Amino acid sequence: METTTFDDDGDLELLLQNDDNPTDPSSAKPTPTKKFVVSSKVLCLVSPVWKTMLSGKFLEGTSRQIPLPEDNARALEYMLNLVHFNFDRLKAPTTSDLTHIAIVCDKYDMAGLCRFQANEWKDVFRREGKLYSFDAIFFAWTFGFRSWFESVVKDSITGQTIPRLREYELENFAPPGIAVTMREIATRAHDETFNAIFNTYKRFLGDQSCTIGSAECSAYNLGAFITILDRNSICIDMSLARAVYGTPGPLRPLADVVGGMQISKLPLKPRGETPQRRYGEAEPDEHAQCRSLAGLKDEVKKIMSNIPTALQEHHKVHLRSQAKKVGAE
Ligand SMILES: [Zn+2]
Repeated sequence: METTTFDDDGDLELLLQNDDNPTDPSSAKPTPTKKFVVSSKVLCLVSPVWKTMLSGKFLEGTSRQIPLPEDNARALEYMLNLVHFNFDRLKAPTTSDLTHIAIVCDKYDMAGLCRFQANEWKDVFRREGKLYSFDAIFFAWTFGFRSWFESVVKDSITGQTIPRLREYELENFAPPGIAVTMREIATRAHDETFNAIFNTYKRFLGDQSCTIGSAECSAYNLGAFITILDRNSICIDMSLARAVYGTPGPLRPLADVVGGMQISKLPLKPRGETPQRRYGEAEPDEHAQCRSLAGLKDEVKKIMSNIPTALQEHHKVHLRSQAKKVGAE
């Protein structure tokens, strides 16, 4: 077994799995592959969770070994080096390490120990282009970055697909209660957007789509709108979309597509005009209103700007208390 000594006079051994080759923690007897020799006194000083755990163990007079099959060894190693003052052994963490460090800090209530690193670590997410990843959500949550947390949650609601949000609900490191709310908000906004598209389609489907009763205008608008939808792989009916495409993509690109939709002037000769005069060239353009998509665009813009926050009161309380410990933001 690989042994790492954090304190030469260490009186406690933590037994861990290798991160690259983890044994299923739920299996009956995971075999530890790593041993950390630490000071129980230090652990009690830096973490109330360790204190409770160790006083219980020691009161019972049980072994001086603690198996921690679920903990990420690299992340725990970082934190143990930090609290045992082995600063020369601290290696610059990647965002993947930071996610695990956040999980360890959350579990043992040690976020406050990282008050000098937390802001710098936020930059690691920026540098790696992961400021708006699911990993960032848990990191911001643990270290009390309230506005970052709120913006990355909102960004995920509009930038991730519903199935990806559903997967996120199953991740064991998602902050409690946030993922299900994110998915509900995204689903509602998707439904509203598709309804708006469907209602526009129905408007063009009716004979009255042309304000001055031109059958050519009505038929053209309907055909042009269907063509736009088809070119963007948008199915007009949400339930059909789910059946045909499996799932729709993320909300924001869909809203962008709607924002850029345009039906150009009908290139047809109107009845009774001279052959040289083409439809829509008459001044003023009397069919501009018939083919207008302004109503649809306004509605989708409104849906996007009215995306509610997914934060509940208990989230705000937690973020406030973490921010106080860490001194974030
Ligand atoms: Zn018209």
